[in-house]
Amino acid sequence: MDPFSALTADDRRHLRRCVDLAAEALAAGDEPFGSVLVDADGVERFADRNRVAGGDHTRHPEFEIARWAAAHLTPEERGESTTYTSGEHCAMCAAAHAWVGLGRIVYASSTEQLLQWQGELGVPAGPVAPLRIPQVAAGIVVAGPDPELSAEVRALHAKAAGR
Ligand code: ZN
Repeated sequence: MDPFSALTADDRRHLRRCVDLAAEALAAGDEPFGSVLVDADGVERFADRNRVAGGDHTRHPEFEIARWAAAHLTPEERGESTTYTSGEHCAMCAAAHAWVGLGRIVYASSTEQLLQWQGELGVPAGPVAPLRIPQVAAGIVVAGPDPELSAEVRALHAKAAGR
């Protein structure tokens, strides 16, 4: 089954916001990633963007979501929530997501796409193995990528690589 077919109009609306946050991060000198946490009622509870320009390369929005959720949501609320993100979680963030018991993940672009783009754009590989979410946390339900939004995410990465 094509995972893209599982995306709803609401999923795409939340992903749109993630891509906008990624653009905001890029404009601020950070890397182009953005994420939002949505509860079981479809209400956005927390949102953040990448903030690594200051030198702390753990400042990923998905990691901030996991820590926010651990501090502010019950285990049940965490399990029923959905995390939307412009780019599939890295291994660090997928692990944090699983450790705090968060639910479904929907991404606009995949790790596989990011690797391909990094190759095309001449961006050196990072220090962490580019594992897919299911390789880190097999129990997490995932959906993505979105063909249209992932093209926008690629354009943001191209701009980041060119600065
Ligand atoms: Zn991450």
